Amino acid sequence: MPNLSFVSPTRNSPWGTYLSQIDAVEPYLGKLARWVETLRRPKRALIVDIPIELDNGTIAHFEGYRVQHSLTRGPGKGGVRYHPDVTLEEVMALSAWMTVKNAAVNLPYGGAKGGIRLDPKTLSLKELEKVTRRYTSEIGMIIGPTQDIPAPDVNTNGQIMAWMMDTYSMNVGATATGVVTGKPIALGGSLGRVAATGRGVFVVGREAMRRLNVPLEGARVAVQGFGNVGSVAAKMFASNGAIIVAVQDHTGTILNEKGLDMTDLLDHVAKTGGVGGFKGADRIDNENFWDVKSDILIPAALEGQITGERAKRVQTRVVLEGANGPTTPDGDAVLADRGIIVVPDVIANAGGVTVSYFEWVQDFSSFFWTEDEINVRLDKILVGAFKGIWDTAEQHRIPLRTAAFTVACTRVLEAREERGLYP
Ligand code: NAD
Repeated sequence: MPNLSFVSPTRNSPWGTYLSQIDAVEPYLGKLARWVETLRRPKRALIVDIPIELDNGTIAHFEGYRVQHSLTRGPGKGGVRYHPDVTLEEVMALSAWMTVKNAAVNLPYGGAKGGIRLDPKTLSLKELEKVTRRYTSEIGMIIGPTQDIPAPDVNTNGQIMAWMMDTYSMNVGATATGVVTGKPIALGGSLGRVAATGRGVFVVGREAMRRLNVPLEGARVAVQGFGNVGSVAAKMFASNGAIIVAVQDHTGTILNEKGLDMTDLLDHVAKTGGVGGFKGADRIDNENFWDVKSDILIPAALEGQITGERAKRVQTRVVLEGANGPTTPDGDAVLADRGIIVVPDVIANAGGVTVSYFEWVQDFSSFFWTEDEINVRLDKILVGAFKGIWDTAEQHRIPLRTAAFTVACTRVLEAREERGLYP
């Protein structure tokens, strides 16, 4: 029986992956399991047409989505992705993972996500602004500072959040800084937000290594994706004594057994747009990235990267999921068999949404914190959340992913039960 009529997930597709994670957590939900079906369907999914006039005078149409998987614990919260492969199914899975992530870290939010099916590289800045403004207007009926608060994700940034904030504000007739997070500082953005996800990946990775009694000094780290998340995480691991041996992005894969120089590499990427052609490393075949020996492997690019096949080859102790959904159910099963610890996305990359939450709180109170205050609070929240998840995993002898889902889904379903069903 298909779960829903409007998507056709397969075992390893994003929604299929999410459903199998819910199957895995069900036995640990006790009496709350009677509510579990609510987690298997998004509360609301909006599909919008976005017509714009291109610079050359022709009219182009783009497909946009905003999915609110759950609003049980608070307003929706989750990023907006611009990518040619975006689908309703993918956005549904990403929104559901936001429900779990927000609850795993105990932020007062439900889960949501948005996306537009387009390749931003093919649009001029003006066209990108038009798409963003029209999309914001179209989803304007379901977003808002107390309803659903978008943020940046793949290929979206502070500029796009600024256009979204401005469009929403124009439509409601008041400057509404709290409608999006990840904004530029001048528009009510928060210090520390840009680096927050990568910083969180580092903090959670550090805690995992502490539990495993493996020192960070000299630990070998391999990173897929050297964008916002991967580059900040790599830099922080390197500045805490780890050795970044391999990095892969869309321009290629580079390896240096002695450790890549992060300052030089970041410079090179800023100038050329990717790691390919970096002089301080050897170039290796992209597929050989998965054979590189490491202590920590950080997938920080796209979903579905660690398949069953690749999971048989990886040589690492810990997979630290910087990206959302980078490991397929087949990959997860193989890693578990091989005794490789997977620190799941819902906690490993929760730093971004945590500082988004700080931004939203600062916007409401119009009182802004220092970067130090933000980083200290971020560290404290992630360390506490990770501890709860690790202890749950030990108590039930279950993988960290199932433990994170147990903690999170228990919170969501408890709230569901206490609210009761309307009408
Ligand atoms: P980004 O656009 O800044 O960087 C993406 C990186 O992935 C780039 O280095 C790109 O070259 C690389 N990449 C793209 N396609 C690739 C391929 N086929 N093979 C190898 N590398 C490839 O994006 P980001 O913000 O760093 O996000 C990365 C992941 O982290 C996504 O899954 C995103 O959902 C997740 N995430 C991001 C945030 C955030 O705050 N930015 C928060 C939580 C989760």
